[in-house]
Amino acid sequence: MTLKDRLCRVVMTLAVTLLFSASAAAGAPQQKTQAPGYYRWMLGEFEVTVLSDGTFQMDAGKVLTNITPKELDAALARSFLKEPVETSVNGFLINTGAKLVLIDTGTGTLFGPTLGKLPSNLKASGYRPEQVDEIYITHMHDDHVGGLSADGKRVFPNAIVRAAQQEGDFWLSKAHMDAAPQDSKDAFQSAMNMLNPYVSAGKFKPFDGDTELVPGIRAVATPGHTAGHTVYVVESKGQKLILWGDLMHIAAVQFADPAVTIQYDTDSGRAAMQRKKVFADAAEKRCWVGGAHLSFPGIGHLRAAGSGYAFVPANYGAQP
Ligand SMILES: [Zn+2]
Repeated sequence: MTLKDRLCRVVMTLAVTLLFSASAAAGAPQQKTQAPGYYRWMLGEFEVTVLSDGTFQMDAGKVLTNITPKELDAALARSFLKEPVETSVNGFLINTGAKLVLIDTGTGTLFGPTLGKLPSNLKASGYRPEQVDEIYITHMHDDHVGGLSADGKRVFPNAIVRAAQQEGDFWLSKAHMDAAPQDSKDAFQSAMNMLNPYVSAGKFKPFDGDTELVPGIRAVATPGHTAGHTVYVVESKGQKLILWGDLMHIAAVQFADPAVTIQYDTDSGRAAMQRKKVFADAAEKRCWVGGAHLSFPGIGHLRAAGSGYAFVPANYGAQP
């Protein structure tokens, strides 16, 4: 072998080694997905499964009211957040042993691809949409009723849908839609598109005021965010969970200062009053809380802190 041959072989070996180590350094491809979005735990004898519908980006500065930009920046910084705030949309599936009850249904296809995942997460959690017996709606904004129907058909074919009478009277009324400003007519149309398949099948049954709907789950009227906004109180074996729908939207801001409101409130003053009332009650009685827009899985406790509250997320349970 000539010197030239040997040099050539050394160069080749070096090149192959470099190529090999370069591809090894690139490592495994990043997967960039989360685990299926459900979280299961037991409340007394009831099995609760939180179902993620996904997240969306909320421009807190554009939608929050009764707060200055400076106060908002400080509140977000205190929680290590920046605009826009990634915000969860959660539904809650409760198996009481006798009934399978879903509270709120997510957005369906109304909010784009980062949302609308509640049905796939329900399936991943081991249930099927046709098993759901009852659906309780906190209010008829499209991120809560958007998952009820698809292409004019009921997604939950065997479920009875229940919501406050005032909520149905408001959102399912053509007269109210006609009278509404142009930019809010879509909200009425979405509510109608989602609810009407149940109405025409005789499967929409509104209730009036505070009502026990199945043993262990009762509706409590909290009008303010909308005319018929309702929280659902779930109780089993002395344990209590308050599912509060849209009593709050941005945890980083509204726990510390429940007086901060949002432009989606029909009656901001009343919405703030309901928020303060439910927060005070939950903190005092040390009961579980669950929020539609609390960071998934959105369950925990409240404790009084200064003039507001601190949220203590649930400790992870490997065994529900
Ligand atoms: Zn909402």
